[in-house]
Amino acid sequence: MVTRREFVAGVALGTIAGPAVTSASAASNIDTHQSMRAAKLPIIVSAGNGFPYIEAGYRQLVEGADTLDATLSVVRGPEDDPGDDSVGLGGLPNEEGVVELDASCMHGPSRRAAAVGGVRNIRNVSRLAREVMLHTGHVMLVGEGAERFAVARGFKREDLLTEDSRKVWLLWKESHADWWGPGLADPSWKDRLRQRLHTSDASREYQRLQALAQDLGIAPDLQQAAIRKIVFPPTGTIHCSALSAKGEMSGCTTTSGLAWKLPGRCGDSPIIGAGCYTDQDVGSAGATGSGEENIKVAGAHSIIENMRKGMSPFDAGMETLKRIVRNYNGDMDRLKYVDMTYYILRKDGAYAGVSLWTGYEPGKPHSIAVCDGTVRLEKTVSLYEGVSQEWPPLVVPSTSTL
Ligand code: ASP
Repeated sequence: MVTRREFVAGVALGTIAGPAVTSASAASNIDTHQSMRAAKLPIIVSAGNGFPYIEAGYRQLVEGADTLDATLSVVRGPEDDPGDDSVGLGGLPNEEGVVELDASCMHGPSRRAAAVGGVRNIRNVSRLAREVMLHTGHVMLVGEGAERFAVARGFKREDLLTEDSRKVWLLWKESHADWWGPGLADPSWKDRLRQRLHTSDASREYQRLQALAQDLGIAPDLQQAAIRKIVFPPTGTIHCSALSAKGEMSGCTTTSGLAWKLPGRCGDSPIIGAGCYTDQDVGSAGATGSGEENIKVAGAHSIIENMRKGMSPFDAGMETLKRIVRNYNGDMDRLKYVDMTYYILRKDGAYAGVSLWTGYEPGKPHSIAVCDGTVRLEKTVSLYEGVSQEWPPLVVPSTSTL
């Protein structure tokens, strides 16, 4: 049973003098503070996976760096990290085992934007998007053309599929799942996953996958997570928005997108106005989660327009989440498979992190990383309490706490 949160009171954040950075909360001790009023400038916010890198981005802002450069330095962390399988190197691949990356960026002061989609063999696609912005008359390059442009601009071609991601992909292939057939928004869509998992075969299937994971050499402590990734193809991304002391703003979003996707699938991350939007007069916002749903509500742009009309970052984000709910007429049997988090920064430094659900799975709440002199990781405020990808209470082996 889900319950809607009517309102979560915002708590003003403490500020500190000077550019020194203090750690207000560690990842294991996430706060639920949400700034509802002007914060200290400069300020930089990102998805939770930016937490280890956000302080360095903040320092760049303090030293007068361009706001887009500061965001790019934050998202480069997960892009270069082979252990982050949602972004850049080591991202989970498409159904053919090829990593395809998407990214977009907006530079507030010059009011420019650019994006790249379905890019193979190039790791730092957020920087590639900036190259498109700086060195072409276009806003978006995709696929092979984007890759050739990258090489022409000096980017290195490399295989982005790590051994760990390849093993999980091989396991997924054994699950005989695919992305063909009616999607979630199709009237004829059926919850086949739940039907399947409620059968007594579920435990046999789990054990079959576990044995396969073992044969593939997936470490025992990673097997459960790997099986989860094939049952619930994960999304994952990083967005970052920055506001300088001068009041300049930029944002960028970068991702390997939805795992096991059809080749050529682009999510919301490279769509200006969906996965990322910055308006120097209003604010900057970005998204992680179910890209298909976010594209349909032009999420980041809707948030900016809501704030332009006077809404707070929190209200602007919640109103946009409700548009997703409206697209499904509140059908919770479908919405439970939708995940969405918005990271929102207003021009005066007020910010919010809001989510449709508390997290993907129990014990792992969605979070927003923030640095305005104090570096911290805060839980987002969710419209619905619960997780979007809950293993149903079923006939699963007791070893599974998926
Ligand atoms: N929104 C991304 C996509 O759909 C994935 C994510 O953010 O998790 O490609």
